[in-house]
Amino acid sequence: MISSELLERYQRQILVIGKEKQELLASKTVVQVGLGGLGSPLALYLTASGIGKLIIFEKDELSLSNLGRQILYRTEEVNQSKGEIGKKHLESLNPFVSIQIIEKWFDEESAIAIFEKEHVDYIVDASDNFQTKFLVNDLGIRFNIPFTIAGIQGFEGQLLSVIPKKTACYRCLFGHPPEKIESKPIPVMAPTCGVVGSLEASEVIKSLLNIGDRITDRLMMISLDAGEFSSIPFRKNPDCFCQKEE
Ligand SMILES: [Zn+2]
Repeated sequence: MISSELLERYQRQILVIGKEKQELLASKTVVQVGLGGLGSPLALYLTASGIGKLIIFEKDELSLSNLGRQILYRTEEVNQSKGEIGKKHLESLNPFVSIQIIEKWFDEESAIAIFEKEHVDYIVDASDNFQTKFLVNDLGIRFNIPFTIAGIQGFEGQLLSVIPKKTACYRCLFGHPPEKIESKPIPVMAPTCGVVGSLEASEVIKSLLNIGDRITDRLMMISLDAGEFSSIPFRKNPDCFCQKEE
């Protein structure tokens, strides 16, 4: 039974999804990759919404240049561990959510260590590089965990979700990571992080509760510049590895 305190905390959301689904949400575990520009609004909304456990991969320290878009952090926290201070802010927002920080990069070894230990219901990418996005895709398919991948640049964003064995994957669409990757900072407008990170949180919650439509078999294109959202449909690639996994 959900307590009267939690009924009050989640009052507005319960008006949408009902008490049972609110309780269901509290039983779910999500792995989030990155706690930066996209990861800030994403983690804030997942925590505020009352998911059960949020396991976040984040290894960086906070820099001054992060504060222009990473809304989880405060000026006086520069040079501190983002994982540590992020955990503190998220727990203060909602002490009923279990926040676990993995102070490592999300790579095959660190990810598999978690997937073998925890029952993970969803993976959500909030990284800023293609290698990590492809790895989220490949491990999501391999471990049969649904996931969402998003990217941002300037006023633009892209987002797609994948249900392994059912829908087309990130590689079906993009194939391989680009060979030449520039190490220059990606230009980003702060509100783009908010819109796309919030869309990701919504995708996670919908999937965990099996409500609404997923952004699957299509790439959602967000242009805050033009004030438009659009979707490009795509199909499973019969030659893609995701079609060969058991
Ligand atoms: Zn595929």
